[in-house]
Amino acid sequence: MALYVMANFENRNKENVPGLYFVDRQCIDCDLCRQTAPTIFKRATQSMDSYSFVAKQPVTSHEISLCDRAASECPVEAIGKKNCLQFSTAGGGELIAG
Ligand code: SF4
Repeated sequence: MALYVMANFENRNKENVPGLYFVDRQCIDCDLCRQTAPTIFKRATQSMDSYSFVAKQPVTSHEISLCDRAASECPVEAIGKKNCLQFSTAGGGELIAG
């Protein structure tokens, strides 16, 4: 059984635009977040590696809702929020203090 830790801002992918949400280097490029919030999450490719990053920070409540959903669904907990709350899928995707 694999063990994943919550997204770490210090390990974020360099392509993330500044702002609250980020994707870190745990991303396994499963595509789920890009399907859930295609205007927010995009795919980067670096030689042999590919992963998601936040290409646009959410503005509307709908976009924020999609980001939160993507974060709670990410299978490796690679999506995080800077300096506030972190997501955990351990208990069904609830927010916990980070
Ligand atoms: S859902 Fe998670 S693992 Fe999948 S592409 Fe998005 S950040 Fe990467």
